[in-house]
Amino acid sequence: MKPGPPPKTASRAGSLPLVGSEVAFDFTNTASGRGHTSHQDHLQSAETVIAWAVHAKVIGAVDAEVLRAAVSSDERLAARMLNEALELRDIIHDIGMEFSSGRRARDQQVDALAKVHADCIARARLTNHGGGFIWTWDARSAPVEVILGPITLSALTLLTRSDLSRIKMCQGEHCGWLFFDVTKNKSRRWCEMEVCGNRAKQKRHQSRQRQD
Ligand SMILES: [Zn+2]
Repeated sequence: MKPGPPPKTASRAGSLPLVGSEVAFDFTNTASGRGHTSHQDHLQSAETVIAWAVHAKVIGAVDAEVLRAAVSSDERLAARMLNEALELRDIIHDIGMEFSSGRRARDQQVDALAKVHADCIARARLTNHGGGFIWTWDARSAPVEVILGPITLSALTLLTRSDLSRIKMCQGEHCGWLFFDVTKNKSRRWCEMEVCGNRAKQKRHQSRQRQD
């Protein structure tokens, strides 16, 4: 008998480290090891998308309750929330990967992001906030956009206002987490030193021992 796919690990969407420096990258970091047997995906259902959004402070507890009730009674909405979240995550991850490799994002990827943004903004309101205005979404009338809207805005702000050479991918083996490097001399290499940094150190240590 052929071995089946590796068992899905339990989702840690509600407790993942938020180390991307930008919510758009924290969002892409809900998966790791893309294309490898160590692949983990913490967005497994609409509930896990909501759990991550609360954890990352994209939505508050009240909106989360509204959304949980909505997806539990509406399968189509639940499927749309998960599918659109995964699509947006792929778009941002692809763009981030290009920049982190020193390339430019392809027009097709940027156009796809702009399209999601346009769809989200069509459902948004400009709301007074501390003397200025911010985009807000109503969880009842825009249950998917209330989560994807702020993530898309974060990605667009990165693209339009940031030093794109600071977009990096963790150098850990099969990690794939993205982050915006805010260190003074652009020296950050790892998602988390304690995870991928130490693993790489251990590996170097082991290979040195083998050579001895
Ligand atoms: Zn890493």
